[in-house]
Amino acid sequence: MPVTGRLFVGGEWSSPRPDFASHSPARWSEHVGTFPQSSAAEVSGAVAAARAAFPAWRRTSRVLRAECFDRLAQLIKRDTDALAELMARECGKNVTECRAEVIEGLHMVQYVFGTGRLPFGEVIASEIAEKDAFVRRKPWGVVGVITPWNFPFAVPLWMLGPSLLEGNTCVFKPSEDTPAVGQRLVELFAEAGFPAGTLNLVHGDGTAGEAIVRDARVNVVCFTGSYEVGRRIQELSAALPDRIVAAEMGGKNAVIVCDDARFDLAVTAGVLSAFKTTGQRCVSASRILVQEPLLERYTKAFTDTTKRLCFGDPLDPSNFAGPLVNPAAVEKVLGYNRLARDEGVNVLSESERPKTDGCFVPPFVYRTDYRPELRCLKEEVFGPHVALIPFRDDDEAVRIANATEYGLSLAVITESYRRMRLFRDECEYGMGYVNLPCIGAEVHLPFGGVKKSGNGHPSAAALVTAVTHATAWTVNHGTDIKMAQGLTTAIDGGPA
Ligand code: NAD
Repeated sequence: MPVTGRLFVGGEWSSPRPDFASHSPARWSEHVGTFPQSSAAEVSGAVAAARAAFPAWRRTSRVLRAECFDRLAQLIKRDTDALAELMARECGKNVTECRAEVIEGLHMVQYVFGTGRLPFGEVIASEIAEKDAFVRRKPWGVVGVITPWNFPFAVPLWMLGPSLLEGNTCVFKPSEDTPAVGQRLVELFAEAGFPAGTLNLVHGDGTAGEAIVRDARVNVVCFTGSYEVGRRIQELSAALPDRIVAAEMGGKNAVIVCDDARFDLAVTAGVLSAFKTTGQRCVSASRILVQEPLLERYTKAFTDTTKRLCFGDPLDPSNFAGPLVNPAAVEKVLGYNRLARDEGVNVLSESERPKTDGCFVPPFVYRTDYRPELRCLKEEVFGPHVALIPFRDDDEAVRIANATEYGLSLAVITESYRRMRLFRDECEYGMGYVNLPCIGAEVHLPFGGVKKSGNGHPSAAALVTAVTHATAWTVNHGTDIKMAQGLTTAIDGGPA
């Protein structure tokens, strides 16, 4: 049954309006559902509902707010398989990956529930013995949550979880490619008993997202998506006096394979980094740097393994990965494959696209020496497009790894703790891995990057500092006033 899309504002579901459809990437003619495109007025209504719900939610005990997340966790456990299947149909990721994503979302919800009873401030000494000083974090107010299609369940929870636990209320806009998963998530929040207005849902493309951003009543915008959109959100927000933007954006990530690497581990790490999710993770690697003595052997093993990978029906768990998300993504990735050819790389693996109405694009693997002018080595492709790049020594590997405007994730494959430490300290990234793929986040670790990949507010557990502000609260237990720094309290020139 196709999903009937509705908005959720102030605890009420709107009437359906089939303004746009979400498609199944594996069978483009199949509609997963139809959805309303939120107008500016509808977005404004959602922000107003969130603002109206804020005072009561902020005053609700932090422990009771957290308990709503315990109920949500039980519902996600109940629906894990159905959620994974809906996600596989709507975004084209293999159902096994979708299941892992639902579990990741569950972990975020469990983490948020668990932190509800943990300390959320600090007690700090004052230089005046009679004073107690506290650092307390307060919610900002309304948080706009704008998310991408590739993690349609876990990424919204990375943002909604900390925002709501801390006492903010939210307006959520899922990607127009995955509105059914976004809506299902909001239905679970409603069933878990989050009060009306605490979480509001709008649907649609960038115009609905931009209406959230332009609304001055939205205190914080939590955005995950491309650099171009993240930059636009930051530019629009700069005009507002007290807007916080937490932006997680793209990547051009590298795996560095050193000549002392465990060979099989290095091949597995490279293949998973490049092709899991068909290369459509912000942390996917499209550059595998291989030290020269290993280059021939690694090239053969990597391309042979790539040729064995099955890209097919997302609902068949035996497939390795699925299609790209939509026809525009197909055009974009094929365009980068052509660009790489035009830039003179040595193509090692490329096959015909299957003749279906699905958005399938086979892996494109090439070898090239690093040259600074090659755009294919610098720009995010977001697909199964990967370069094998030789390097001579560690300094050269660092230079190549850093030669992009992005800085999200990095993997180093080595048995040497000295080399590992050099890459750890000299490379530019937010998430580094040793003897692992450069994918595989866990919710209790900060998720973010540097340069064009992020603006310094990592997501998931670390997002709490973006959705709250620190306050100092100082209490005098004495019966007279004593000031720090020896400041005199004398008034009218009399003795203190
Ligand atoms: P996108 O930037 O096209 O869209 C992301 C969201 O922004 C969507 O909901 C979209 O409707 C909305 N949007 C578009 N224009 C807008 C505007 N002007 N104002 C406000 N909102 C607007 O990204 P996508 O194609 O959905 O996802 C892929 C991108 O996301 C890749 O670049 C990938 O690297 C990145 N990503 C980053 C992370 C991370 O944590 N760093 C995680 C997942 C994906």
